[in-house]
Amino acid sequence: MTQALAGKRGLIMGVANDRSIAWGIARAMHAAGAELAFTYQGDAFGKRLEPLAASVGSDFMVDVDVTDDASLDAAFDALAARWPTIDFVVHAIAFSDKSELTGRFLNTSRANFKNSLDISAYSFIEIARRAHPLMAENGGTLLTLTYQGSNRVVPNYNVMGVAKAALESATRYLANDLGPEGIRVNAISPGPMKTLAGAAIGGARKTYKHTDQNAPLRANATLEAVGGTAVYLASDAGACTTGEIIHVDGGYHVLGMPQPEFL
Ligand code: NAD
Repeated sequence: MTQALAGKRGLIMGVANDRSIAWGIARAMHAAGAELAFTYQGDAFGKRLEPLAASVGSDFMVDVDVTDDASLDAAFDALAARWPTIDFVVHAIAFSDKSELTGRFLNTSRANFKNSLDISAYSFIEIARRAHPLMAENGGTLLTLTYQGSNRVVPNYNVMGVAKAALESATRYLANDLGPEGIRVNAISPGPMKTLAGAAIGGARKTYKHTDQNAPLRANATLEAVGGTAVYLASDAGACTTGEIIHVDGGYHVLGMPQPEFL
């Protein structure tokens, strides 16, 4: 086992259960030697997170709703009280009203547009602002999760596509702001994965099957592969990579059309 993150510690935001992408990242980072703290959203998710966090040697869990500045402040105060410095933050958080993740994008409501962009994109900026002072000494890594519905039309992904476009752009702007502090800011773009958030998107099962059949590697992303990419980005091996969107999707994003047998 490589210990690429030995001596590093960081915050994982967005574990809902053991199928969460954030959990795949947490497992891989723990196996690579990192010490982890977690945030969760509300008591029900907290109960599910507790045994998972314990299994990677962590008892550090804070309740955070990213739309609530006070809860973000409290989480980063608690983090700073426990650890004087951190090396990474993983932002694996997104939300849209499920009723607008199906049908025409044209019908996106103002309220859901604002809420989706707030939770799924703006929150990364609020988190970066609170995290970077804790990375002042040694630099660090901020990581977020995106999806290629940001720059291509994926039916039903709708407002989340616009939110991911904002998130990817924010990743580049934050990379430029924080580069002089030695802080790298990157996004991982997995293909469709079977998670709670993934299941909320209309036609998710078909999208999953379509990627599995058509991606150059004829396979969907796995939690292990996303976790391994996160380890690389947070480790010294990723030292010169920032402002990047790294696809972990079996190569699906390079396709111009489906494989001939599925046309
Ligand atoms: P998930 O449901 O396991 O995780 C989503 C997390 O967002 C949950 O832990 C939830 O509590 C959290 N969240 C939502 N609103 C929040 C709020 N107001 N405050 C705090 N936390 C909040 O699903 P996932 O698929 O692991 O999603 C993680 C990230 O990966 C998301 O950004 C998602 O868009 C992205 N992603 C998912 C897929 C996929 O197919 N599942 C593909 C590419 C990217």
